[in-house]
Amino acid sequence: MRWSNLLIPTLKETPQDAEIISHQLMLRAGLIRRLGSGLYTYLPLGYKALRKVEAIVREEMNRAGAQEILMPAMHPREIWDRSGRYESLKNVMFRVKDRQDREMVLGPTHEEIVTDLVSREITSYKQLPCNFYQIQTKFRDEIRPRFGLMRCKEFIMKDAYSFDVSSEAADESYKKMYDAYVRIFKRCGLHAMAVEADTGDMGGSSSHEFMIPCDAGEDAILEADDGSYAANLERAEGICDLSNEFPGADAALKKVATPNVGKIEDVAKLLKIEPRQLVKTLIYVADEKPVAVLLPGDRDVNEIKLHKLLPGAELADPEVIRQVTGADVGFAGPVGLTIPMIADRSLKGLRGGVVGGNETGVHLLNFDLERDSELRNFEDIAFPKVGDLAPNGKGRLTEKRGVEVGHVFKLGTKYTEALGANFLDEHGKSHPAVMGCYGIGVSRTLQAVIEQSNDKFGIIWPVSVAPFEVLITVLSPKDEACMRHAEEIREFLEEKGLDVLVDDREERPGFKFKDADLLGLPLRVTIGERGLAKGEIEIKERSEKDFEAVSVEEAAEKAYERILKMRELL
Ligand code: ATP
Ligand code: MG
Repeated sequence: MRWSNLLIPTLKETPQDAEIISHQLMLRAGLIRRLGSGLYTYLPLGYKALRKVEAIVREEMNRAGAQEILMPAMHPREIWDRSGRYESLKNVMFRVKDRQDREMVLGPTHEEIVTDLVSREITSYKQLPCNFYQIQTKFRDEIRPRFGLMRCKEFIMKDAYSFDVSSEAADESYKKMYDAYVRIFKRCGLHAMAVEADTGDMGGSSSHEFMIPCDAGEDAILEADDGSYAANLERAEGICDLSNEFPGADAALKKVATPNVGKIEDVAKLLKIEPRQLVKTLIYVADEKPVAVLLPGDRDVNEIKLHKLLPGAELADPEVIRQVTGADVGFAGPVGLTIPMIADRSLKGLRGGVVGGNETGVHLLNFDLERDSELRNFEDIAFPKVGDLAPNGKGRLTEKRGVEVGHVFKLGTKYTEALGANFLDEHGKSHPAVMGCYGIGVSRTLQAVIEQSNDKFGIIWPVSVAPFEVLITVLSPKDEACMRHAEEIREFLEEKGLDVLVDDREERPGFKFKDADLLGLPLRVTIGERGLAKGEIEIKERSEKDFEAVSVEEAAEKAYERILKMRELL
């Protein structure tokens, strides 16, 4: 392919609205263009790279035994009503009406659609296990579309759904997908890590997210420093092994005046203590009843964890807090409180703590949890902190940021029950199939590759997903010999199945080299009059600083060998 025949609108300047490097480079290298918020056109180079990511995903899904199908992107509303998700996903779903005023949905995901299909077509245990996948455009009305392809309103997802006879069999399907994901991201040249994740709105019992560690990531990951544990922040557990005995541990409870300071930091400052010595007592309301939730002053409640114990619990309003504690907001404490209480497990054994006095402007010093309160209910309800022990007791937690490129879920029977996807076992008894679902953000993955692989000059494509493997930069395109050699090398490499781009533009060499670095194709072959006079052609890998001069005769073969070597590394 010749550069002059392709739309590759490279930009010198960094576009103002692109905050992260991969978004900037996708625009600057002429891979994508924005139509509106969260809506992008893939230009020829961007689309070629996207198709390569898709091809890797497809190969690995097929290899893992999944069957490719394609479901409609537009669905009748009724099918979403059957699972109850028309309501729960209301804010993310794009809704439209047809000319007969029938309500339709643009699919944000396809659990309901595939389960409906399975409920009609799969009736016997003999047809299980099965796994259907598709690569398709998804629609989500995101609160904040941003970072280019990272968070779009319309994006390309690979979604797969497995159906099994039992949860043990479903575990095997899950494992197969997990392994396929490891291979997919590795083949894309990505360093992905699998982290434990919460199952959230999806329902189900367990899940892993595949994360690409990078500073621009929107998700926080807590990882043990010995690599033995990783989970996203929502899900992560930590063990705080700091001493829970503070000065005053043996002394009696004592009132202290804390006028006008209800916030943890202010109380700590006033009393000249660490926030950790203070107990945060929050009043929640669950099932219309107040509950006190207690945790160390330097920690925050993870409401996802709390909701597993107290479904739907919400912070109480000041009126309720006053009724329950007899004090203004900021002075609640466990001493003498008669409502049910739950404490974060890190409070166990606390002695010498400071708690609210259930009286406006009053705190209590020398609090001994066992001695002075009825609190015996310890649970994991806080976000862990960096430095905590990992739940396996091995490493210490560290924090990093990541981009979620894939997600695997064990779903159980939530959707198969709701949509009647039952099968008959060998005794003729009916059971709902056990389901798993597995998503990869194909378009997000493409951008994640760039986020992870670039330098100050531009993209550095891994050979597996580069739009073209080889760029032939012709320094004097008007020179007949230069162009002839370029065409010969192109033909040789194309015959080997490589994608080759010939930069035949009438531009200064410096300009062309800059564009070459920006585009970041894995191998550059440079052909100029001066080199040819010496019988030489230069080849250079994008990731290397120096070029190698090779003889004209050997150039094509040498270039091919380099590409093969790069492929071996993935
Ligand atoms: P996120 O937390 O980033 O919103 P999600 O949990 O909503 O992701 P899933 O529903 O599991 O994502 O979708 C599967 C995959 O689709 C995600 O792992 C991600 O790679 C991709 N994805 C999700 N939302 C978007 C989006 N708005 N734009 C691009 N890719 C997305
Ligand atoms: Mg989302």
